[in-house]
Amino acid sequence: MTPPSSPATSLDAASTLVAARLDGLREAGLVREDLYVDGRWRQASNDQRLEVHDPATGILVGAVATASAEDTREAIAAASRALAGWRALPAGVRAEVLWRWQQLLTSSSEELAALLTIEQGKPIGEAVGELTYSAAFLRYFAEEARRAYGEVIPYNRPGRRLFALRQPVGVVAAITPWNFPALMIARKVAPAIAAGCTVVLKPPSEAPLSALALAELASRAGMPPGVLNVVHGDPVVVGAVLTESPDVRMLTFTGSTEVGKLLMAQCAPTVKRVALELGGNAPFVVFDDADLEAAVTGAIESKFRNAGQTCVCSNRVLVHAKVHDEFVERLTQGVGELVVGHGIDPRVQVGPLIDGRALAKVQRHLLDATSLGAEVRRGGRPHELGGTFFEPTVVVGAQAGMAIAREETFGPVAPVFRFETEEEALALANATESGLAAYFYTRDLGRALRFGEALEFGVVGVNTGSISYEGAPFGGMKQSGLGREGSHHGLEEFLEVKYLCVDGVTATAR
Ligand code: NAP
Repeated sequence: MTPPSSPATSLDAASTLVAARLDGLREAGLVREDLYVDGRWRQASNDQRLEVHDPATGILVGAVATASAEDTREAIAAASRALAGWRALPAGVRAEVLWRWQQLLTSSSEELAALLTIEQGKPIGEAVGELTYSAAFLRYFAEEARRAYGEVIPYNRPGRRLFALRQPVGVVAAITPWNFPALMIARKVAPAIAAGCTVVLKPPSEAPLSALALAELASRAGMPPGVLNVVHGDPVVVGAVLTESPDVRMLTFTGSTEVGKLLMAQCAPTVKRVALELGGNAPFVVFDDADLEAAVTGAIESKFRNAGQTCVCSNRVLVHAKVHDEFVERLTQGVGELVVGHGIDPRVQVGPLIDGRALAKVQRHLLDATSLGAEVRRGGRPHELGGTFFEPTVVVGAQAGMAIAREETFGPVAPVFRFETEEEALALANATESGLAAYFYTRDLGRALRFGEALEFGVVGVNTGSISYEGAPFGGMKQSGLGREGSHHGLEEFLEVKYLCVDGVTATAR
């Protein structure tokens, strides 16, 4: 086994750079640590603080206020007060606010990318990409706000006119995860406020600073008080208030399937609308007619982005027996060239895992796989950088019964499975309760359509490992979720249809 590439820059040198970037961010007013409620930055009522650490070094980078139940109720009250005015505005006026927010985000993206890397660990190039993509969602939904069309229905009786109006759902609670601290917010908040809803956002405890920086920019963009509120804190406390409140009409959640199910149950007593973006277990299938070079590039791109911590990361690499050995050799070579280190260094391609629990899960999956006969071809151990860094890893001989096949590993480990037929590949690919993303490589057009239609996944990439686009619907089947984000479908999640039946319209004028 050859060890993976060594780090680009020492963690000490990176820490000096991090301190300088944080100073710059503070000067620019982009490091906010209080709650954002009703257009004001304010302390939490309980004086408790939640520490935010750089996952690469463990260094403290901030301490945010933690919302109490009472603070959360105040945020809901602010969103409720703002709702009538916000939904009554012409769509174009709401769009203007989104446009200005997008422009401010774009002009600060370099600073915000550093903040994102510092609190979340992803390489700075990926952080810039996340912010560019976040801005694209703000722009897209600014445009889409003007297209929330209703319908005129042919009437069933003379003297009647029938309409289907599309109206905002109301106050929306949004709960987001740490792996895309900016993008997951843009993808939810932009369509919600474009539709005329108001929002109470609970960002993740691991990475709340990007959310607060986005709220600061929203405020500078002229977002009226109460339209967007941010309350971070104990998820159980904040989550309970958000889900119990009858004033909150919808929950949009991205995170683990386990927490998604819990929140869905908590929303049942008030019959809230729910949109859930949950965990994945993506297959990446390589057929024997695939362009192997492209497949290896796609596999590395989709597996090792964000150190394997994305919901659409390939979790299982299924390779046809005829090309298995050659694919594995090329994959192992490519993975060995990945540069591991602190994400603030622009040469780095793989950063740390978010925390010790994530590292332990990766180790548990590898131990289980190797004890059941899998073989590590590259990496396989905690990285010499220490902390939560893990070596980019390739494992062969993976089998369906292993934990690595059944669960989302959420780390830089590519387990390779072997298959003989298209039917076998399909059965293996679909053998999961998750149904978010899937990828496959083939040059056979018939198979591309046949296999693409048969996969039980909401998002399918054919001959690509990168499927992100704000204009396309994104979401999961089976236990990966409910609803779609992005595209006009993403706006519809936040709109309700009202049937308006107007009688007597042809009566004689008085
Ligand atoms: P998580 O533990 O489910 O947390 C997600 C959010 O839920 C965080 O804000 C968390 O708050 C909050 N939360 C946790 N327990 C809660 C509770 N009892 N009540 C209310 N809120 C609660 O997930 P994660 O580890 O942050 O994110 C990784 C998961 O997200 C993976 O499974 C990944 O596949 C999935 N994901 C899915 C998509 C998609 O689009 N389908 C996209 C990205 C990620 P705290 O941070 O304060 O604990």
